[in-house]
Formats: sequence, structure tokens, C-alpha cells
Amino acid sequence: MNPSPTLLLPAERIPIAHECDLCVIGGSCTGIFAAVRAARLGARVAVVELQSQFGGMATTAQVNAWHSIEDVGRTRQIIGGLLVEVVARLRKRGAIRDITPVHRDQFNFNSAELAVELDALVTEHGIRPFLCARFTAPVMEGGHIVAAVIEDKGGRRAIKAAQFIDASGDGDLLRRAGFEAVRHDALQPVSYQSQAIGIDAWHRKNPGVNLWEEIRPLAEAHGFPGSNPWLGVVPGAPSVHNIFGARLNGVDASDPEELTRALMEGRRIARAFLDMIRERFGESASEVALLSVAQALGVRETWHAVCHHRLTQDELLGGARFHDAIAYGTYPVDIHHPGGTSLLYLDGREEVVSPLGGGAWKRWKPEGEPTAPYFQLPYRCLVPKGSQNLLVAGRLVDADRGAYGALRVQVNTNQMGEAAGVAATLALEGRKGVGEVDPTALRNLLAKGGSIML
Ligand SMILES: Cc1cc2nc3c(=O)[nH]c(=O)nc-3n(C[C@H](O)[C@H](O)[C@H](O)COP(=O)(O)OP(=O)(O)OC[C@H]3O[C@@H](n4cnc5c(N)ncnc54)[C@H](O)[C@@H]3O)c2cc1C
Repeated sequence: MNPSPTLLLPAERIPIAHECDLCVIGGSCTGIFAAVRAARLGARVAVVELQSQFGGMATTAQVNAWHSIEDVGRTRQIIGGLLVEVVARLRKRGAIRDITPVHRDQFNFNSAELAVELDALVTEHGIRPFLCARFTAPVMEGGHIVAAVIEDKGGRRAIKAAQFIDASGDGDLLRRAGFEAVRHDALQPVSYQSQAIGIDAWHRKNPGVNLWEEIRPLAEAHGFPGSNPWLGVVPGAPSVHNIFGARLNGVDASDPEELTRALMEGRRIARAFLDMIRERFGESASEVALLSVAQALGVRETWHAVCHHRLTQDELLGGARFHDAIAYGTYPVDIHHPGGTSLLYLDGREEVVSPLGGGAWKRWKPEGEPTAPYFQLPYRCLVPKGSQNLLVAGRLVDADRGAYGALRVQVNTNQMGEAAGVAATLALEGRKGVGEVDPTALRNLLAKGGSIML
């Protein structure tokens, strides 16, 4: 392949928009929770988010589910911290729903209400927000990052900071600062979410009808990919359905051309799904309409930092213990692929879901053998090799394909954010590199701030 033609930009003097202790790139719950935990410890914090609202996948891609915060046997709570605080805030607004009888899922929330609560958290903690602002380049001195260059309505500007957290999901800061990053051989597919009204009215007129089974014969004519969308609830808005879009396989969302194509294809599919319902059911589906399309593509995975430790599937499923554990979870190894979804549960069960829905169960571990009540994530998986003042959190965590399949959900990425925020503050106070943070001090401070440390 020929290299792209290039253009030389003239050297440029740019204004310093802000100076602070910690600059977080990416304002999903991961990034905001990092910022809040650092601010509560006295750090001056800024958050840079390219979308118009905070929340990342949870708001701009309408991924509105948080999974279990308890151990496998539901005998004890293993996740606390800001997630639990935000659940309580959303509960006051009637914007969250417990879904305990269903395996895996625990809460559904209203994404719009979450975005407003995240704004409130930012304001309450004196965090400097930069919305509609894209991080574009680091300024380096030796191995240190000294500033993040952003582009927003003010033009090209810099944020100077002592510590940085990359919570951008795709590693924009990590990779542009020259730290090593890798992609798994087969990336998990992307999905594009939307919202519809009128499906509840259709349900009332067609009780007991399996919607997808009925419309599936129309799929080919509508250019539908080989997986079904699924319907979710929007707490506080009973007439609205969240539609988790069909999977688009083989998309690398960190590639600008592939991202653009997937967004347009995702929107086309979102509307085609509703067209299929109207075509099949005629008058009884006359109220079905597309209400909104997501701001952002639903991205399950792109890059991972190369850190001091790469968590493996064996460690995760075996419940390996780590002296520097900073997060705990029970979510299964959940890998979406062209053949459907494969899930390995901590309790030894294995589920294979076909692309069109419908699961088959077997065991990856024989019945009666001991299983882990939860898994642990070590701090070292957030510390890029060679980094002095950069941590990663969220999708960038260093994990093999299997371990990442479990770590990638928000109850886990949220804890990573909190740990990164506290660790950055410790590094700042101790004038140390992020790799030298004392794990005992980190765990103690996390526990003091409301995280559960086991
Ligand atoms: C279809 C789908 C269904 C899923 N289902 C669930 C589920 O049921 N439950 C669950 O818990 N998880 C689910 N997940 C996974 C989960 O949503 C994500 O893995 C998780 O939210 C990742 O969080 P993150 O903070 O690492 O990344 P993101 O949420 O992607 O956040 C990254 C943030 O950084 C910003 N950003 C990126 N680049 C820049 C830049 N250069 N400058 C400034 N800002 C930048 C982005 O705009 C974004 O706000 C699902 C994912 C998908 C796609």
C-alpha cells in the first residue's frame, strides 16, 4: 500500500487554556469517576470530552445496563464506590430499574438522566469540563507528558498537567505519546443503538408474538446483517424502547474510514428494523417510529495498552488473587463474534448464543469442582510500560481476549477509573512515577473513599 501523501504544518504557538494537577482524556463514567475521586482528594482536575455530553458508551451510545455488584452466589456486595452513589442519585429520579431475575444484568438506567447527573458531579467537585473538545496531541518532555493539545471552539489550545489519564477507549493519548498498544486478533463487533416509540402499542395489539421470528423472513430484502437487534427498556420512559443494534463484524472503530462507514450503516439498519416491523404488521404497527439515533457508535473494543501486567482468561476465571487488586467483578467472559456470543461464567457454566438469539448451555468446568466467587483486577494492568505520569482506564486495560471479554463492562471500567484517579493523586503527592505507587496505600485510599477492597 502506498503511504498517504503528507503536508507539513508550520510550527505554531498556542494558548494554554488551563493548568491543573490531573488531566483526564475521555469523559465516560470511567473518566468522570477518575476525575471525581482525584478531586475529592484535593487535586485540581480537568476532563476533555469530544462529545457534547459526558457518559461515553453509557449515554452517547445508549448502552444503558450495569451488571451485578455482588459475588456469584449473591452473598455479598463486591463493588461499591461511585457507581453505587450514582445508582442512588438515579433512583431518586426514578431513572433506574433493578432487573434482578435476569442473569447477568442488574440495573437499567435512563441514559439522558445519567448525562445530567454526570454534569452535576463535575460541577459539585469543581472539575474543569471541556465538552465538544477533542484531544489531538501530547506535548512531551523526555518521557513525561507535560500538556495535552485539544481542539475546540476556541481553536487549538493546551492543557498543562502533572498527571494524565487516558480514558478515551481508543488510546488516543497513549498511542500519540508513543506508548505501546496492541489490538486482539479478532476485535469484538460494534453495534449502533437507537430508540423507538410505538413498540409497546404494537405489543399490546400482538400479545405473545415473537417479533424477530415474524420479521426475520424480510431480513435479506432489507440488507440486514446476520444478527438480531434486541429491545431494552428506558427507565422513566415506558413508551420508549432502546434498540441495541445488530452486530457489525470486522470493524475497527479507531480507523476513521471504518468508523464513518459503520455509523452510516448502523443508522440504515436501525431504520430498516422498524420498516420490517411496519411491513410485516401493517396497521397494528402504525405507531412504530424511530425516535432518536445514538450520537456515538457502540464500540466494544479497539486498542489495549501494554502494561506491567496483562490479565489472562485463566487468571480471571480462576479468581487469581493480586496484592494490588483495585477492582472486582463477576461478569462472564462475553465474546461477541460472527458465530454469535460465547459466554464463560465464573461458576463453570458456558453459554453459546446463536447470532439470532437462543442459547445452548454446557460446562467449561466439571460440576463439583471449586469455582471463584469473583475475579480481581490488578493495578498494574492500568500502568503502561515506560510511563511516568500516564495511566489508562476502561477499554484500554491490558488483558488478553478472554479476560477483556469480562472486564469490558461498565461496573468494571468504572472501578478502573476510580483507581486511576486515586493512583494519579498518590503519584502527584509523592512526586513519584505512576508505576511506583504503593499498592497498599492505593487500596487503603480507595476503601476510605467508598470502594470495596476485598
Ligand atoms: C452494543 C454494546 C452493548 C454493550 N452492553 C453493555 C452492557 O449491557 N453493560 C455494560 O456494562 N457494558 C456494555 N457494553 C460495554 C461498555 O459500554 C463499554 O465497554 C464501556 O462503556 C467502555 O467504557 P470506556 O470508558 O472505556 O469507553 P467509552 O465509553 O467509549 O468512553 C470513551 C470516551 O472518550 C471520549 N473520547 C474518545 N476519544 C477522545 C478524544 N480524542 N478526545 C476527547 N475525548 C475522547 C469518547 O467520546 C467517550 O466519551 C456494551 C458495549 C456495546 C458497544
